[in-house]
Amino acid sequence: MAETTLIQGGTLVTPDGEIEGDLLIAGEQIAAIGRDLATEGVSRIVNASRCLVLPGLVDPHTHIQLDTGIYKTPDNWEIGTRTAACGGVTTVIDFATQFPGQDVSAALAGRLAEIGALAQIDYGLHMMLTALPADAELDGWMVDLLAAGVPSVKVYTTYRPNYYQDDAALLRVLAAAGRHGVLVMVHCENDALVSAATGNLVQTGQTALAHHGEARPALAEVEAAHRVLFLARALDPSPQVYVVHCSAGGTVDEVSRARAAGQPAIAETTPQYLLLDAGVYAGGHPEWGIMQPPLRAAEEKDALWKHVESGAISTIGTDHCDYTIAQKRLSPRFTETAGGIPGLETMLPLLATYGVEQSRITWSHLAQLTSTNPARIFGLKGKGGLAPGYDADVVIYDPAVDGTIRAERLHNLAGYTPYEGCSVSGAVRTVFSRGRMLVRDGEFIPAPGWGRYQPGHLEG
Ligand SMILES: [Zn+2]
Repeated sequence: MAETTLIQGGTLVTPDGEIEGDLLIAGEQIAAIGRDLATEGVSRIVNASRCLVLPGLVDPHTHIQLDTGIYKTPDNWEIGTRTAACGGVTTVIDFATQFPGQDVSAALAGRLAEIGALAQIDYGLHMMLTALPADAELDGWMVDLLAAGVPSVKVYTTYRPNYYQDDAALLRVLAAAGRHGVLVMVHCENDALVSAATGNLVQTGQTALAHHGEARPALAEVEAAHRVLFLARALDPSPQVYVVHCSAGGTVDEVSRARAAGQPAIAETTPQYLLLDAGVYAGGHPEWGIMQPPLRAAEEKDALWKHVESGAISTIGTDHCDYTIAQKRLSPRFTETAGGIPGLETMLPLLATYGVEQSRITWSHLAQLTSTNPARIFGLKGKGGLAPGYDADVVIYDPAVDGTIRAERLHNLAGYTPYEGCSVSGAVRTVFSRGRMLVRDGEFIPAPGWGRYQPGHLEG
């Protein structure tokens, strides 16, 4: 008989609300939830009294072991998934990159080989498209991706020359995706506006990291989102458009308007745009704020929180990117500094503290944003819920432990966190991945190779 674990006496957080009760794990799946479940024959009992029992987080946006060709993060999949598990994240959806001259099947095989026997939690993949083939071949790529369980592609409206897609290329990707039922994730920043603002700063010698925010105005993001949604709307069938890491309220307004008009459109944000602002650039560690899109004016945080509260934002992911502090400080120029920050281990305590405790969202809403919705949107069956038949990806969170975020306590390699010194209510206590205990009382239990590829299959 499969090993069984009874998580006893916790507050179970389901998408529909919180219930006091027990949760029984049998093997890799949740077998039962309810009050006073029987203890006879149970292999292991875990006391969860005064704790929240959450579905494991499904982070739809990570960059573990990233190599952009300029900078390479020093982590691998063992380290990336370790810091994830310690943060209560039991599934990541990362990216495979289709490099020029490569087709998507080769790109996917290459990425899966990198992950190989290292991943300690489950993972899915999106396909990042760079160099597009002719339409007939692009159609073939969409078919291959769906068959491989990769129902989502990502494109960029900026970053010349490597990732940038012009409007004609964007339209081709959107059209092919619409024909095949593939979801299109878009990094939205108007490249001409970003290039002009950056160029002006460079010409006037204003290249210090403090100027990073000015180089990439919010208008550039809002315009690009508007344009992409407009192009998608003109197509029949119209593809699902997923705007990644919305950093400005106006961007989410564009997504909301599209949805109100009946267009399939989804907005994602990240903890950094909800909790940090352009004040970081004027502080002692401007490198902590080097990311694209940049941190915004403080009022944008309020606008984004309102969009979270209203449901206009469907998902929160981390955009985790484990560059070290040495890499972040390598150049004094914002144009050359590695963009991206680590976030996998800090997302849950930050959202618990600044979302739930401050009454902006409920625990159920937190679970929807960070688990249920990403699992549903990207078609990961068995993830994102606490109910019989779901994978036993379960997080026990103790809200009574008051703590402070310190880089030295995190399980990644960056050596810094932009939330250094930030106080948080609660801590991840215990984590199960498909029934296997990966974190016990805050201590990580290594399980390289335990993580399994999770193919995504969109509905409809
Ligand atoms: Zn990203």
